[in-house]
Amino acid sequence: MRKKLVAGNWKMHGSLVQNNELLDAVIAGTAGMRKGNCAVCVPYPYLSSVQSILQSTHITWGAQNVSQFSKGAYTGEVSAAMLNDFSCHYAIVGHSERRSLFGEDSHTVALKYTAVQNAGLMPILCVGESLQQRDTGVTQQVVTEQLDAVIGQAGVESLRKAVIAYEPVWAIGTGETATPQQAQEVHAFIRENIAKHDIAVAAGITILYGGSVKANNAAELFAMPDIDGGLIGGASLIAEDFVTICRAGQD
Ligand code: PEP
Repeated sequence: MRKKLVAGNWKMHGSLVQNNELLDAVIAGTAGMRKGNCAVCVPYPYLSSVQSILQSTHITWGAQNVSQFSKGAYTGEVSAAMLNDFSCHYAIVGHSERRSLFGEDSHTVALKYTAVQNAGLMPILCVGESLQQRDTGVTQQVVTEQLDAVIGQAGVESLRKAVIAYEPVWAIGTGETATPQQAQEVHAFIRENIAKHDIAVAAGITILYGGSVKANNAAELFAMPDIDGGLIGGASLIAEDFVTICRAGQD
């Protein structure tokens, strides 16, 4: 059976005080859930305190980005080995905000993906089309290009140690969620695409949906056969909502 995961993406939000309150409530609200079903990806400066808070709980943690380089004169960058020092389980790579606002192309994303795996962490690889791309009917080509860059660089076998997040750009932070059918269609396409390389890898990979997942639509989305959980932005900052979403996504 595929591993289910609900991962929060805090983006550039939080403070030490707010994070403590949020995590206390999430830990309490998700009590009894299996370890690894629920995770939070937090800003770099909070990794140490989040590690202290979560290390003896059922919730795992990670970062939202990583450098493709292992070390050197790269001012402002953070390596995967550094994330490992804080026992991160995950690093998000290729989030659409990184692709569109910080110019990360699929080649760079693939290098970051490999850097994360080389450090023993699991990449959460984001793929997804813009509204214009959906409207012009090129969703499948866009997602294929984003996926193929990683398969070409790291090999299909690498997906055994990765999570994919399908995040239609038009649904991120907009309040406009893909319908369960729209999301399922692309998730199935992604899985079929991977199956062309390796059927077992395709069957086993966790594919999250992300894009305005809320407490009131998570269960419907997660009930679709190829949706294995969610990557949650805004709603992951509201403890009660995130708890509801985590519970909707548990095995
Ligand atoms: C995200 O940031 O990955 C995301 C899906 O955001 P939101 O849930 O706010 O749309």
